Amino acid sequence: MRSALSIAGIFCIPLFAQQPAPNPLPGAKLGIDQIKEQFFRVSAGRRLKPKSWPNGARVAVALSFDVDNATSSLAAGELGANDLSRGEYGALDGLPRILRLLDKYDVPASFFIPAVSDLLHPRMIPDILARGRHEIAVHGWIHERLPVLNDEAEERRLLHQAIDSLTKSMGRRPVGYRAPSWAFSRFTMQQLQEAGFLYDSSLMASDDAYEILAGGKPTGMVEVPIEWIVDDYPYFGGTNGSLPSPDLVLKIYKSEFDVAYDEGGLFVLTMHPHVIGHRSRAAALDALIAHMRSRPGVWFATHEQVARYVIR
Ligand SMILES: [Zn+2]
Repeated sequence: MRSALSIAGIFCIPLFAQQPAPNPLPGAKLGIDQIKEQFFRVSAGRRLKPKSWPNGARVAVALSFDVDNATSSLAAGELGANDLSRGEYGALDGLPRILRLLDKYDVPASFFIPAVSDLLHPRMIPDILARGRHEIAVHGWIHERLPVLNDEAEERRLLHQAIDSLTKSMGRRPVGYRAPSWAFSRFTMQQLQEAGFLYDSSLMASDDAYEILAGGKPTGMVEVPIEWIVDDYPYFGGTNGSLPSPDLVLKIYKSEFDVAYDEGGLFVLTMHPHVIGHRSRAAALDALIAHMRSRPGVWFATHEQVARYVIR
């Protein structure tokens, strides 16, 4: 009897051979109007840099923690117990250590939480909210990568499932959004506008906050911008190639803060409890906050407070 494999071989190989090779440079074939349409689908509008920060502060500091824990592994079907436990560390040790550190300096932070992360460890949100100064915001349902999902209806379903779940856990509707892996699909911007978010924090067009444009038109939504330079993941995230010394990372963060201070700007730092929450790295974060606390005129705020202040 002919096996399934050999039948597939007979019929499929000629079909594969007829597939055109994917174009590696699709942009090169487009006219400038088509390029503009793509580029300005989501772009930067008016700069929202205030003349001064509250109480005459020189700089605004917005610390953020993406509480991904094991959700990206679960979304991708990477179900090895070791992978999952590496994320679980964020809930068990990372987040409690970070909350103690923020208490030590009495500073607020914003926590972007995939809803599944909350449902797996339901003590996290009450522990964060008990401090009375932190913000909780949306970070997907299961850290789904939206361009990979590439499905408008499914993206909308997951977004609203995430909003409803967090609203239930935190007792109010979240006003902030950060895309999983910071990655928008071509549907995301419109869905965020429809959902009525105050701000997004996934884009990188400026050091300052700005109003997001969709198709060249003002959206009224504030961007609280992020950057890979001021993220813990590229330095510490991998199992290989991580920077050996948290002091070197601290040096970069300090320098970013110092220039923001001199320019009267905004310093946004993105971290993850399962990454920065480890002992040696939390010690570096402690030193950074001590450095920022030692300067006069530093306004520590949640992303929500920054967004409301700059759009007022
Ligand atoms: Zn994330």
